[in-house]
Amino acid sequence: MAPTTPPTDTPAAKGKRAPARRGEGQWALGYREPLNPNERSKKDDNPLHVRDRIENIYARGGFDSIDPGDLRGRFRWYGLYTQRKPGIDGGRTATLEPEELDDEYFMLRVRIDGGAVTTQQLAVIGEVSQTYARDTADITDRQNIQYHWIRVEDMPTIWAKLEGAGLTTMEACGDSPRVILGSPVAGIAADEVIDGTPAIDEIKRRFIGDKAFSNLPRKFKSAVSGLPDVAHEIHDVAFVGVVHPEHGPGFDVWVGGGLSTNPMIGQRLGAWVPLDEVADVYGAVISVFRDYGYRRLRHRARIKFLVKDWGAAKFREVMEEKYLGRKLVDGPAPEVPDVQRDHVGVHRQKDGKFYVGAAPIAGRVSGSTLVEVAKAAERAGSNRVRFTPLQKLVVLDVAEGEVAGLRAELTKLGLQTEPSPWRRGIMACTGIEFCKLAIVETKGRAVDLVTKLEARLTDITDGVTAPISIHINGCPNSCARIQTADIGLKGQIVTDDDGNQVEGFQVHLGGGLGLDAGFGRKLRGHKVTGDELPDYVERVVRNFVAKREPDERFAQ
Ligand code: SF4
Repeated sequence: MAPTTPPTDTPAAKGKRAPARRGEGQWALGYREPLNPNERSKKDDNPLHVRDRIENIYARGGFDSIDPGDLRGRFRWYGLYTQRKPGIDGGRTATLEPEELDDEYFMLRVRIDGGAVTTQQLAVIGEVSQTYARDTADITDRQNIQYHWIRVEDMPTIWAKLEGAGLTTMEACGDSPRVILGSPVAGIAADEVIDGTPAIDEIKRRFIGDKAFSNLPRKFKSAVSGLPDVAHEIHDVAFVGVVHPEHGPGFDVWVGGGLSTNPMIGQRLGAWVPLDEVADVYGAVISVFRDYGYRRLRHRARIKFLVKDWGAAKFREVMEEKYLGRKLVDGPAPEVPDVQRDHVGVHRQKDGKFYVGAAPIAGRVSGSTLVEVAKAAERAGSNRVRFTPLQKLVVLDVAEGEVAGLRAELTKLGLQTEPSPWRRGIMACTGIEFCKLAIVETKGRAVDLVTKLEARLTDITDGVTAPISIHINGCPNSCARIQTADIGLKGQIVTDDDGNQVEGFQVHLGGGLGLDAGFGRKLRGHKVTGDELPDYVERVVRNFVAKREPDERFAQ
């Protein structure tokens, strides 16, 4: 790998700085007066203060006692969103007022940095779900656990239980430094460049819950991994393991990636950062975002818009000069995998033990399942479990003689360790079951699709040498990363053959990360109804398998 320098084709690098936009609400340029209701709400009261009100006022007074500004704004800083009132169809999502969509129950997200829990923590997560969340638990593609059916009255007890186990919901959502993704096999993978766990711990210690960073222009998604296994290309900031030819193992820094309705691949800063400086650089990036991020319009507030306008060279220069007070070392790009690593199956760790990765369908599990996984892992001699950015889970540290028994137990729980390519490659967002922004059903459709593909495609399964990723979103926001899937499905209302308006999907084909990093092609008119989905996916997959060159990947 040859050392590289920062990009030279940006306006900033050419000495032609991108024209400054006026009035974007950038604090560093003096625009301190809130320019939209969200900014006003954050300025009126630091969102972290809402915890006190939840415990002392709302938990006692119930749902109707909640101030609307807290309910639809500041609650998010503690992982709480109102969930969608049951029975409202997707065609009405855009026409109703927020209060008409609000149920009196909440979704609650537990942030799990690096996706890492002990079996004791996993059992507590499961028990909280059994008692307070009607046994719901989804593994999200940000390595969090998401509950549903939470009552505000139960929040003090839920926090006491979670925090008693060393878990938190703080800044799990909101315009804040959200969960830090990490490799599910950090510290155990034989081919890992470096273990990013100490950097994740230090970032948490320094920045999470710090009021100096709790009012960002928008959400802030980050990842630190010694392997390219955390979708680093689409984060606000990501640190990916790389070996510097002179300085050894460290991290390559990416900024300005993100999906949603304006997808962008992150840009490399061309800088190499040692493990003990990752938190400093994270602090510098988040400070640039806080001070220079665009606060006028919510849909232009993610850091990617600033990075796009400035270019990587200027971004690095401002970071170094104004926040770090030193120059970063130039560094090489990380190795790029040709197939996305998903951690499913049985793999040897560098200490000779094994990790066992299992696939629920689209991350849907339950509290009871998680309690049983914790018990099964302990029976196999493990006390560590990790969630993955692909909605899977991994049991670490299993002795060779315990692997078969653990696999059998996981399989009984519906967590297959040798899943079909379809079960392995599917992800789905929350969808209309609980999400107020949703237009279509997602999780249930994922289960139906996997079941049908497994029944219909047995004749070609052996020919699918790498999982074909199928990502399903319930609306144009890309919570399930549809633009980077082989088959990406964006929920919308479509017209069926009889002229009816029904749930369906806009199809994106051929997106990917790693070697194939890029967004899927959205073909004009390429839409499919929900009912047609299994037939459609079957046709696409059969075509691909029949016509591909040897070793051709779907995204090629
Ligand atoms: Fe909700 Fe849309 Fe995100 Fe799905 S993609 S969880 S429907 S906001």
